[in-house]
Amino acid sequence: MLKDKVAVITGSGRGIGLDIAEKFIKNGAKIVLTDISRELLDDAETKLASQGEVKSITCNVTDSQQVNDLIQNTLEHFGSVDVLVNNAGVTKDTLLLRMKEEDWDFVLNVNLKGAFLVTQAAAKAMIKQKSGRIINISSVVGLMGNVGQSNYSSSKAGILGLTKSSAKELAGRGITVNAIAPGYIETEMTAALPEKAIQAFMDQIPLKRGGKPEDVANAALFLASDLASYITGQVIQVDGGMLM
Ligand code: NAP
Repeated sequence: MLKDKVAVITGSGRGIGLDIAEKFIKNGAKIVLTDISRELLDDAETKLASQGEVKSITCNVTDSQQVNDLIQNTLEHFGSVDVLVNNAGVTKDTLLLRMKEEDWDFVLNVNLKGAFLVTQAAAKAMIKQKSGRIINISSVVGLMGNVGQSNYSSSKAGILGLTKSSAKELAGRGITVNAIAPGYIETEMTAALPEKAIQAFMDQIPLKRGGKPEDVANAALFLASDLASYITGQVIQVDGGMLM
């Protein structure tokens, strides 16, 4: 489905990003794995190397110089940037009244400013190519809010604004921009949640199970493929029906 497409996936050293990378490479894509942690990237690259073409580049998405270098290195190595998945994300949960300014800035910087910076850098290359796919990983809490996550849910709601605005700006250049809003997905990020919070999510899921990273990767593959060529500015929820 993605034969010879070059896909850059941020935060792909582990979790949902790594599953998206694996799904894409199995479907013929050439992959740029990128993450803030070199150690994670080395393990991820070893995992994917036998399955196809993969390059790993360390990049902190909050640093515009590193982001520009990421796209430049991708172009030098593979010659194009066909698909961008803005997946890098962090949490720093606490109740609104206890939240420190730095907790707010940290989460907004990585989750929202990071997606903006990588989108801007990749879009410049995609505009020249007259084609591209951008997929932003939001969250269902960006649509419904969540106790203890005013910073995180604001960043994920902001991703939806970024998705729709950039979809409108880039549509005429052959570029689609869509978002995926996962619900509760079993990764290291959610493993850190207290048991009570996990149970609260489970109680709200009609399909009565947590999602797997592969559930999100399947939606990303669809959005990156030709099957989704007439879809832009949309949000696909992958949440077991948590929010209807
Ligand atoms: P994860 O396992 O924590 O993976 C996120 C990756 O992003 C980590 O490898 C992390 O590296 C990396 N990262 C953090 N800060 C970065 C930065 N400044 N620059 C580049 N990379 C950075 O999380 P996940 O569960 O796979 O989540 C992936 C995405 O899905 C996130 O955007 C998350 O908000 C979203 N999401 C997840 C769920 C869920 O239930 N898991 C639900 C809805 C949405 P370090 O570990 O070294 O910091």
